[in-house]
Amino acid sequence: MKIKQAEYLISAVKPHQYPPEMYPEIAFVGRSNVGKSSIINTLVNRKNMARTSGKPGKTQTINFYDVNNQLRFVDLPGYGFAKVSKEQKIGWKKMIESYLLNRTPLQGVVQLIDLRHKPTEEDQGMFSWLLENNFPVLLVATKSDKLSKNQIHKNLKIVCDVLSVPKDYPIVFSANTKTGKEEVWESLSGLVEI
Ligand code: GDP
Repeated sequence: MKIKQAEYLISAVKPHQYPPEMYPEIAFVGRSNVGKSSIINTLVNRKNMARTSGKPGKTQTINFYDVNNQLRFVDLPGYGFAKVSKEQKIGWKKMIESYLLNRTPLQGVVQLIDLRHKPTEEDQGMFSWLLENNFPVLLVATKSDKLSKNQIHKNLKIVCDVLSVPKDYPIVFSANTKTGKEEVWESLSGLVEI
């Protein structure tokens, strides 16, 4: 898709703070620090539209971005950050479930996993929850620039075994080298009319 315009819209915690339902939405989920902001920036050719951070657990809001007045990207708070209380974890779960389960314009979910590591239990839990709830899911294995070709191949096999998906299911991606960017757009266009 040719990006003519992309901008940050709003950060929300509660549904009444979401922007009006106007365009199809694609949500991004994944562990804190996995690279959600980075993939959003990469897809829309911006450096800093979505905030990226070296500090995991920073984004505890749902962030909405407009793309071409045609589509919205929705960055959901990352999971798996150890230094949060039980209450915060429950709050996180409520926040993302109420978005995912009730948002009418939601067309699909991009789940990011870190290709350097075996999917965590939370990655696995999230992936099966999405499938159980019948969401179209795009699985993106990111930070591939940190691995050799050989390692990519090896780790991809581990990811696919752990998540029980075929070998060609995850899209290998890197925000640094833009590997996989076109493939992600192509798959997104299978989910929304763009
Ligand atoms: P978020 O918490 O999921 O939104 O993650 P961010 O996009 O803020 O990224 C967290 C950190 O990982 C930052 O330091 C990014 O520069 C880095 N990062 C994100 N994507 C990539 C990638 O594809 N390759 C490499 N090498 N680093 C990445």
